[in-house]
Amino acid sequence: MAMTTDADIADLDAADPLAAFHDAFSLPDGVIYLCGNSLGPPPRNAGERLTHVTAQQWGAHLVRGWTEDGWITLPRRVGDKVARLIGAKPGEVAIADSTSVNLFKLLAAACGLRPDRTTILSQADNFPTDLYIAQGLAGLSRGHTQLRTVPAGAIADAIDDDTAVVMLSHVDYRTGALLDMKKLTAAAHAKGALALWDIAHSAGALPVDLNLAAADFAVGCGYKYLNGGPGAPAFLFVAERHQGDARSPLSGWMGHALPFDFAPDYRPADGITRFLCGTPVVLGIAALEVGLDLALKADPDALRHKSQALGNLFIARVEALCADDELTLISPRAAAARGSQVCLTHRQGYPVMQALIDRGVIGDFRAPDIMRFGFAPLYLSYGDIVEAARILADVLATGAWDQPKYHQRAAVT
Ligand SMILES: *Cc1c(COP(=O)(O)O)cnc(C)c1O
Repeated sequence: MAMTTDADIADLDAADPLAAFHDAFSLPDGVIYLCGNSLGPPPRNAGERLTHVTAQQWGAHLVRGWTEDGWITLPRRVGDKVARLIGAKPGEVAIADSTSVNLFKLLAAACGLRPDRTTILSQADNFPTDLYIAQGLAGLSRGHTQLRTVPAGAIADAIDDDTAVVMLSHVDYRTGALLDMKKLTAAAHAKGALALWDIAHSAGALPVDLNLAAADFAVGCGYKYLNGGPGAPAFLFVAERHQGDARSPLSGWMGHALPFDFAPDYRPADGITRFLCGTPVVLGIAALEVGLDLALKADPDALRHKSQALGNLFIARVEALCADDELTLISPRAAAARGSQVCLTHRQGYPVMQALIDRGVIGDFRAPDIMRFGFAPLYLSYGDIVEAARILADVLATGAWDQPKYHQRAAVT
């Protein structure tokens, strides 16, 4: 790979079966966007869809939109589209709330299915909100349930007959390391535990097959690789076999069997609907659907192939151009063991990333010293990756990052 010439790169781009998707997104000129794992860019049609829903549905039909425009069924209808991307069946996925809130609901539901067990087991370096939510749930249980964390590599051996649920992130947000969903789910089941997967960094970037892995529960994000917009609603998956017994602790009216009977007592709806809580975010789901429709048009194998190839190319170019002692690759070198991102550490990772952003290469920084580069295969080209690596090498070689303005920390990194 290090020896790929400019002509080879042009050939790769010319032969790229996903190249046409680039124009379906709106990205500023001069930007190489390597942050789609944090916030995907807007699909070109997102504005038009929002204008349509605002004027032709909300504006024209007002409150009748709930039935005339099918707003009330949006969580399930659009959930069925997400299901196609993640190896779920129709009726197993709903769009609702945020990833954090969905985690709370499903984690509580999982614990409720294993009432005699007291442990939620997770990886120590899981995404913080996942751990915080588990801590909050443990606090509410008044000592019944506790969160136990172990390094990702020790999860399988740590599952025991007190484990109610194993809660894992499929892709490590810091390193991009990918866990084996099928194997770890089987390890949980072998001990009678349930498996809850957070696929925030997987959905839309790599093939996920929840039912092939026999996953029990899953949650994921709408605004990362699904390009649903800032704060887009999230999704949740509950395997059909659990839908009769699992209960949401957030027993809001949209999860009621008959919300418009206005009965005083809660009775859960059948199926995935019981995991809804309040009123669906209609505009948010409308925007998310635009991003989803694009993701559904892409061949999943082509997506995975290109995402791996972009990551490999980036690593090869960076290693060829940058001094050995400055950067450390903390992502797995083998593409099969990575999600869709490559992470490098640098002792001055924060100002280096700010200098890169100033030059149009947008990645992000994760404390303490990680520079994260996401490779969204729908809108990036091989040429973009070569250019990003060249600019990184230049920023390092010239010391251009070492200016006071690049050292000032922003509120959101
Ligand atoms: C991005 C991400 C989240 C985000 O949760 P929000 O509730 O949308 O803020 C949660 N978990 C993981 C693993 C993530 O990558």
